[in-house]
Amino acid sequence: MTQEDAPAPAPLLWDVVICGAGPAGLTLGNHLGVLGLKVLIVERLPALLDYPRGVGIDDESLRSFQSVGLVDAVRRHTVPHQILSFIDRRGRTLAAMAPSAQPFGWPRRNGFIQPRVDRELAQGLAAFAHVQLRLGTAMERFEEQGERIALALRACDADGEPTGPAEQHHARYLVGCDGGRSSVRHGLGLPFEGRSESTRWLVIDLADDPIGTLNAAFVLDDDIPHVTMGLPHGVRRYEFMVPDGADEQAVSTPAHAREMLRRVLPPGVEPSIIRHRVYTHHARIAPTFRKGRALIAGDAAHLMPVWQGQGFNTGIRDVTNLGWKLALVASGRAGERLLDSYTEERHAHASAMIDLSVLTGRIFVPAHPLLKAVRNIVAPAIARIGPLRRYITEMRFKPMPFFRRGAVLHPGAVPDPRSGVGRMFIQPWVADAAGRRMRLDDAIGLRFALLSWSVGAEAWLDDAARGVLRQLDALPVVVKPACQLHGAAGAEDGTVLLADEAGEFKRWFDHAPGPVVLLRPDRVVAAICQPCNLNAALQALATVMDLRPPRAGAKA
Ligand SMILES: Cc1cc2nc3c(=O)[nH]c(=O)nc-3n(C[C@H](O)[C@H](O)[C@H](O)COP(=O)(O)OP(=O)(O)OC[C@H]3O[C@@H](n4cnc5c(N)ncnc54)[C@H](O)[C@@H]3O)c2cc1C
Repeated sequence: MTQEDAPAPAPLLWDVVICGAGPAGLTLGNHLGVLGLKVLIVERLPALLDYPRGVGIDDESLRSFQSVGLVDAVRRHTVPHQILSFIDRRGRTLAAMAPSAQPFGWPRRNGFIQPRVDRELAQGLAAFAHVQLRLGTAMERFEEQGERIALALRACDADGEPTGPAEQHHARYLVGCDGGRSSVRHGLGLPFEGRSESTRWLVIDLADDPIGTLNAAFVLDDDIPHVTMGLPHGVRRYEFMVPDGADEQAVSTPAHAREMLRRVLPPGVEPSIIRHRVYTHHARIAPTFRKGRALIAGDAAHLMPVWQGQGFNTGIRDVTNLGWKLALVASGRAGERLLDSYTEERHAHASAMIDLSVLTGRIFVPAHPLLKAVRNIVAPAIARIGPLRRYITEMRFKPMPFFRRGAVLHPGAVPDPRSGVGRMFIQPWVADAAGRRMRLDDAIGLRFALLSWSVGAEAWLDDAARGVLRQLDALPVVVKPACQLHGAAGAEDGTVLLADEAGEFKRWFDHAPGPVVLLRPDRVVAAICQPCNLNAALQALATVMDLRPPRAGAKA
């Protein structure tokens, strides 16, 4: 048989192909790796992006990295509890964000260096033999073919331009984590609605921080509005507003970066520039994050101005929401309707973040001189009003995810955020029966948990409810007041017994409509009830989540 006669090699079949190895794609790869899926991540560039980008990481993202065992590696590149102040041209603090509470187990505001964290996320993939990261490979085309997606991949040169021959692969699902110019979003024909700001920003990272304070300040200087921020590893970030009409090429040169730095650094300081780049702010969102077997996440699905530092964090929320759903559907334990809940749950929250980011920009850098004057008068007054000041300091304005619809079962006919359902559960410290202290999520792992406060739910379960819990692979957890656990033996039926170390479960459940919650792997409360209502709740939830009886030979 000649080479021409030989049958073409069978195309490879992946559970999920992820297009793009930015933070969204790499985090999704880690989640799917823990959940046991066969995953290919393709990145057109020969190395991860090293642009000066994200500098603020929040507690929800850290919780997501915790669930895949990477939080310690990531935190090496963070400044915990970083305070962000808005300073006027006279040096007065107009507002400061310095939240002290840690409801989800981690500091709410942290400075960080995105390229360093992206690298940690990529290194985390090495733990999974079933997850492959291919750098220098572009996804060129895709087409849904029945129960799969056919993909054409191509090797790229050093600039990310396709060069080699096309390679055919197949996947059950494709996730576009391929940034603002997403080829997956284009391939799906999805519009990217919204607007792009005319304002541009010059962003510079310096080595050997000449200033040294680890907090962040937005300096509302009418001549040169700028951001200055201390980051780990002796890095300092500056962001300068570029005047309207300035020539793009001229403001992108190293000479211009040095000129801008000279205007804010003490005289005689010669800065050591690591990287610099000019950006425009965009506020855009796709109408849906799923079409058939293809989904989009991160910047591919939404773009927002950097004012709240939430682009990276919003992408991490997306993939944390999507990962476990893909795992249930790809293994045949749930039907595709579960994937619709991804857009239902994430779209409204991403829109709210975009709106807040745009509003913050309009308040702090108003386009009109009259509005600047109003800001200069109103902002210092607000800083003197206690409740308003606390509202800003504690970041109570930050929209927290609350899912009215989706893979959740609200206890009443009208979704009520006070029930806890559709919101992220708290992460207090707990201790096991042997007295070992740990954060709650470390006692559970990346899986569902049937968590009950003080009472056991086991005795109330019928066979059908047990079947639902088996299908979800839910871990039974009972949390009790710490005094009840002293000297207690651990539970024998596989139930994890934990002590409420600081009374935080007590406070949470004091206001809840029942003591039993079903926690999703992304730590969202899926349902809450009393033990006697548990069977009905689990049946209703199985319908909402489109759970299916296990297929013969399907992966658990
Ligand atoms: C100056 C600045 C400051 C910021 N500050 C913050 C902040 O403080 N906090 C915050 O949360 N966010 C911040 N952001 C936003 C944050 O950087 C982005 O939201 C985040 O990087 C988006 O991640 P992603 O994975 O969705 O996309 P990206 O990081 O853009 O990754 C997409 C990847 O896909 C690859 N790709 C594209 N097409 C293909 C293809 N066809 N085949 C294969 N690969 C492909 C690209 O090469 C790229 O590597 C900031 C951004 C900027 C610019």
